[in-house]
Amino acid sequence: MDYELTKDQKELQEEVARFCREEIAPRARLLDESPKDKVGGMLRENLKKLTKIDYLGLGLDTRYGGKGLDLISQCIASEEVAKACASTFLSAWSSAYLFGAMLQLFGTNLQRDKYLSGLIKADIVGALAYTEPDAGVDIAGINTIADKKGDKWVINGTKDLVTNASIADVFLVLAYTDRDAGDGSGMTLFIVDKGTKGLSIGSPIETMGLRGASIAGISLDNCEISDDSVLGGDVGKGFNQLERILEVGRLGMATMSIGIGTACMDNATQYAKGRKAFGRQIGKFQEVGFKLADMFTYNDLGRMLTYKAAWSFEQGEKEAGVLASCAKLFASEAVTNIANWALQVFAGHGYVKGTDIERLYRDARFCEIGGGTSEMQRSIIANDVLDEFLH
Ligand SMILES: Cc1cc2nc3c(=O)[nH]c(=O)nc-3n(C[C@H](O)[C@H](O)[C@H](O)COP(=O)(O)OP(=O)(O)OC[C@H]3O[C@@H](n4cnc5c(N)ncnc54)[C@H](O)[C@@H]3O)c2cc1C
Repeated sequence: MDYELTKDQKELQEEVARFCREEIAPRARLLDESPKDKVGGMLRENLKKLTKIDYLGLGLDTRYGGKGLDLISQCIASEEVAKACASTFLSAWSSAYLFGAMLQLFGTNLQRDKYLSGLIKADIVGALAYTEPDAGVDIAGINTIADKKGDKWVINGTKDLVTNASIADVFLVLAYTDRDAGDGSGMTLFIVDKGTKGLSIGSPIETMGLRGASIAGISLDNCEISDDSVLGGDVGKGFNQLERILEVGRLGMATMSIGIGTACMDNATQYAKGRKAFGRQIGKFQEVGFKLADMFTYNDLGRMLTYKAAWSFEQGEKEAGVLASCAKLFASEAVTNIANWALQVFAGHGYVKGTDIERLYRDARFCEIGGGTSEMQRSIIANDVLDEFLH
């Protein structure tokens, strides 16, 4: 067992950390506090900035200007981006991973050629839309329908809570193409460009945390697109394609949790060194020091589980998917605790609006929800464990 990062991974970590500290973190609070009509422009600027360290193309094909790096390297870099600004991470990850990796994995050559290099250069922003007002974790419960009319598809439906909705140039939209075939073979993913007749973007949604992200619903009203817009040309494969991308995608949410967790720890540790009570640094009180110890332990455990799951995917291990669920479950629940403990170290001064710790506390809460809720991760893990028992 070798826990050592490679020389390239260490260099990547240092480069991304330095860049994010100088270029992304200083704008995080401003992005969080900006009115929704200003957020889109700032986010696009941040995505453009991230191209200077090739972040958007880290996992994507070198033919399109990507770096084609392994999942552990992607996790290392993602932690630094999320630590600097979770909203920027969510936006970048939704575009480069949820949209980009989906295209890379399942798209036709024409589809990849059309979008991937623009995505890596942040000239194009992508989004993935599967959640609906009446269907969240129960993806099979969606109501969006695509009907074949000649050589066209006509899509009708509404999607909710789509990251990047207001700034996206292109959406991947999940729809039923054959309801009777069920989720396994009756769903299809469609590539829908912004500006397509019948596609409209809702007003920005105000969220508790990640206020610097651009979240909105979209609706498709007799939205007509060509047959070439079916992802990979694979009618009926949408559910399986989505499941695959969300499975590896749990690593993204786990990394986001660890990044926010590290930011909470750094903030709380600095404060515990500087703040005095009863004539001593508060960190010297056991009750405060123990909180920092727990924060460190929980975050590091989350990181280890995440790297192990990433390594397992790279090795093609059968249990990689369930390990990713374990990592996502643990790291996201850990960061809820970590942010809570960090806020307690700041006490009243952390409860003040506009402080970093207050923003981190709000951002952290999303991690148990996005990319598959804690309940769904537990179900996946339980099913896996039960299967082992029953066979
Ligand atoms: C900031 C933000 C960004 C997002 N970005 C995107 C995006 O880019 N694209 C997109 O498509 N969606 C996006 N979403 C939506 C997100 O994926 C969903 O919120 C998430 O999947 C949960 O769905 P839901 O909120 O509808 O909860 P529901 O599905 O209504 O579930 C409610 C609760 O019931 C529990 N529950 C439901 N069924 C079961 C069960 N069988 N067993 C145990 N518990 C169960 C759930 O775990 C949850 O606790 C985003 C959401 C947010 C807040």
